[in-house]
Amino acid sequence: MPKDISKEKSIRKAKTTVELVICAVILGTSVFLGKSCFDRVKVVPSTNKEATKIEEIEIPDPSTAVDPNKIVFAPSPIETKKKFSGNLILVNNDNEYFSTGTENLVSIMTKNDEAGRSTFTAVDYDYTILEPAYEPLAKMVDDWHEIYNNDTLIVYGSHRTKEFQQQLYDQFTADTSGDGEAPIVALPGFSEHETGLAFDFSETTEYNYQGTGDFQWLNNNCHKYGFVIRYTEEKEAITEYRSEPWHFRYVGIPHAKYMTENNLCLEEYIELLRNAYNYNDEHLKINDEYGAAYEIYFYPSDDAAEVTNVPVPTGVKYEISGNNVDGFIVTVHVDEKTEIGSENLSFTTSPYSFSATTTADSSAETTADTTTDSTTETTVAY
Ligand SMILES: [Zn+2]
Repeated sequence: MPKDISKEKSIRKAKTTVELVICAVILGTSVFLGKSCFDRVKVVPSTNKEATKIEEIEIPDPSTAVDPNKIVFAPSPIETKKKFSGNLILVNNDNEYFSTGTENLVSIMTKNDEAGRSTFTAVDYDYTILEPAYEPLAKMVDDWHEIYNNDTLIVYGSHRTKEFQQQLYDQFTADTSGDGEAPIVALPGFSEHETGLAFDFSETTEYNYQGTGDFQWLNNNCHKYGFVIRYTEEKEAITEYRSEPWHFRYVGIPHAKYMTENNLCLEEYIELLRNAYNYNDEHLKINDEYGAAYEIYFYPSDDAAEVTNVPVPTGVKYEISGNNVDGFIVTVHVDEKTEIGSENLSFTTSPYSFSATTTADSSAETTADTTTDSTTETTVAY
């Protein structure tokens, strides 16, 4: 064993021993105090039944006083404007996406090449998504491919800049204006594709992905990988989009699981968290199918201030995302204990972090051309 590691180990061991001793002392003191308090209550002669009752309730319970599994929260100053970014941002006709210009985008085909992955492809190398969504996408497709051995799956739409969305919008409205139906092309600034968290599947046989046949597995199992089918026929009145079985949106595993099991679209889920799982109320508890436990809550942004003090757990890993409307959603990884000060490890890979390198999207022209070539309506999936 290298000397440094063994030294670090012994320091940690010593630290743990000291902590245990401190815990024991606290526990002992609590028991003593609790007991003496209890004794005092007992010796006070009671003349009134009600008074005795109140005194009994106030006796401190030594067993909960030092619960090592109890999560302790402390305020963390977060820039209020960061409520516009993260895995759970709601982007729709009412909520615009504000690009930071520094989204951590990766080329799907480059990543596939690097991993030697040939289970699916994208239209071109300039088809990008946010880095944290790539691995879940690849894992999902790999698992699907292992079952169906189908080589026709292709990512046909992914990240778009606002400028590219403008081109698509102009093109679409020039073709079919005023049909009065729910939009297929979102207004520039209001497309989920601009977040880098959404992508559209197609298939290279007929370019008509409907989430049926071999592909049904993807639509049925995507929540296990952190994705949801964003626009379903059932939720059309809420999302204001027609059904798009090809459009997947990354939200993260616990959220995708809860939304799927409870049949909630993102609009409904964001509202539920805001109304029922505020930090000061009950927190939403979710166990995923991999055995991980999560605690989720909403905290409103202080829009009058530059910084919002969001309560976050200490010594436990967590992720934080804006909801793009009025606050933050904190996802606590209950079982992932960590050293105090390094709880927010996921910030480094989350789009929440603004530190990632920029991948400029200079591909609007070529991508637009590719899209124009498509012949059937379903291939133009927005
Ligand atoms: Zn789409």
